[in-house]
Amino acid sequence: MFHRDSFNKHRVRELKVGEVKGKGPVIYWMSRDQRVADNWALIYAKLKANEHKVPLRVVFTLTPAFPAANLRHYDFMLKGLAEVEKSLALEGIPFNLLRGEPAEQLWEFAERVEASLIVSDFDPLWVKRDWKSQLNQRITIPHHEVDAHNVVPCWYASPKLEFGAYTLRPKIKKHLSTFLTDFPDVKLQCKSEPNLHLTRWHEVLVWLNVSDEVKPVKAFEAGENAAHAMLSEFISLRLKGYAEKRNDPTLEWQSNLSPYLHFGQISAQRVAIEVLKAPVPEADKQALLEELIVRRELSDNFCFYNPGYSRFAGFPDWAKESHRIHRFDVREYLYTLNEFEIAHTHDPLWNAAQLQLVNKGKMHGYMRMYWAKKILEWTTCPEEAMRFAIYLNDKYSLDGRDPNGYTGIAWSIGGVHDRAWPERPIFGKIRYMNFEGCKRKFDVEKYIMMNLG
Ligand SMILES: Cc1cc2nc3c(=O)[nH]c(=O)nc-3n(C[C@H](O)[C@H](O)[C@H](O)COP(=O)(O)OP(=O)(O)OC[C@H]3O[C@@H](n4cnc5c(N)ncnc54)[C@H](O)[C@@H]3O)c2cc1C
Repeated sequence: MFHRDSFNKHRVRELKVGEVKGKGPVIYWMSRDQRVADNWALIYAKLKANEHKVPLRVVFTLTPAFPAANLRHYDFMLKGLAEVEKSLALEGIPFNLLRGEPAEQLWEFAERVEASLIVSDFDPLWVKRDWKSQLNQRITIPHHEVDAHNVVPCWYASPKLEFGAYTLRPKIKKHLSTFLTDFPDVKLQCKSEPNLHLTRWHEVLVWLNVSDEVKPVKAFEAGENAAHAMLSEFISLRLKGYAEKRNDPTLEWQSNLSPYLHFGQISAQRVAIEVLKAPVPEADKQALLEELIVRRELSDNFCFYNPGYSRFAGFPDWAKESHRIHRFDVREYLYTLNEFEIAHTHDPLWNAAQLQLVNKGKMHGYMRMYWAKKILEWTTCPEEAMRFAIYLNDKYSLDGRDPNGYTGIAWSIGGVHDRAWPERPIFGKIRYMNFEGCKRKFDVEKYIMMNLG
């Protein structure tokens, strides 16, 4: 049996220190990691409940006011949570959906059930950090946070803002053998009676009353089962050749796991474990692990240690200075947010990328760079470019509102994690991309045709 001492304590931070007292339940406040399998926060919560011989409850706080969330996101998330609720019920763990202002709702609930400990999952973005600090001001019980999203816990991989992948990579690699382990099967000892009534999810959607302007997408089925099916499909069909083919937007050779990773419906650590076992060339595995672990965890590092992650203020000094010099350069094309949104630019390649984002709910990774860099070229200033790119990405992308999104956009527009390049108009020293360059790399006409409809 898995012993609590085998749980690596570096995965946990005590956000509110205190003794676990009383016979009330441990609450796992599920938020970023919306899954039952392979979830270090849930494992930790079970271990704590077993240690103190108390039951466990999983709580999800739902607010209609989550920044930039719309029907596309809520639909995907609620379907995933419905699956979570059923899987937890099989393990004798009640699931409670609390609606309203998260910190207040959770505090009231914890008081009502006389909870003995709150366990939450880690998220570097300010929304969740604000919720947690509001909660901590109210509660008198301890609150522990577990990094269940990263393979190497964000704060343990590095105590500071990293310059780029080249500085974080060795730090992550040093700890991989310690953290990239399989997940233990921890059984909860103090089980609860099954909930008589499961959540009525269709009523929840009505209660949310969000606009249906951005419709759910058919390309991605929600939930842990669908996430694991996507992983199996990727490993059997596309992992072989990933190193070479992933950057060709006409081939669709990426994993398509980002919506699931964003909502925590699959664990990145599970993906890494399965990829390592696959009978494919080492170069393909390493290319995937570089994106999945180093690049993804670099995004968390950026957002965790840089409060300006979504703003000009978050750019490195050389990029700010370069933008200052080129701020008033003449722009050949200037578009409004609406023109970008409805894909009415002069460039059919950019329009195709925007249509892929709007219609499929996910743009190909290579095109995201081109797309964001052109927004810089065709707006009045880098601040406006950041605003427009984040607005569009967060609104339409199923994997939006994620550290990867803010970091990818800041990389494209603000040189974050990149180096200075030869100077040119508007971009200054920010790396440039153009239509001709894309034509040399892939069949541009084919990509445009694929995304017209
Ligand atoms: C302007 C811009 C915006 C982006 N917005 C987002 C976003 O909103 N959400 C998001 O998850 N990713 C974003 N990315 C990063 C990357 O493009 C996507 O993660 C990737 O295309 C997702 O598709 P996939 O899962 O099929 O990727 P795969 O190539 O199969 O990669 C597997 C996983 O590795 C991680 N990964 C891959 N590339 C990167 C990268 N460059 N940086 C960090 N992690 C990476 C992701 O978690 C991804 O799911 C953005 C990049 C740029 C340049």
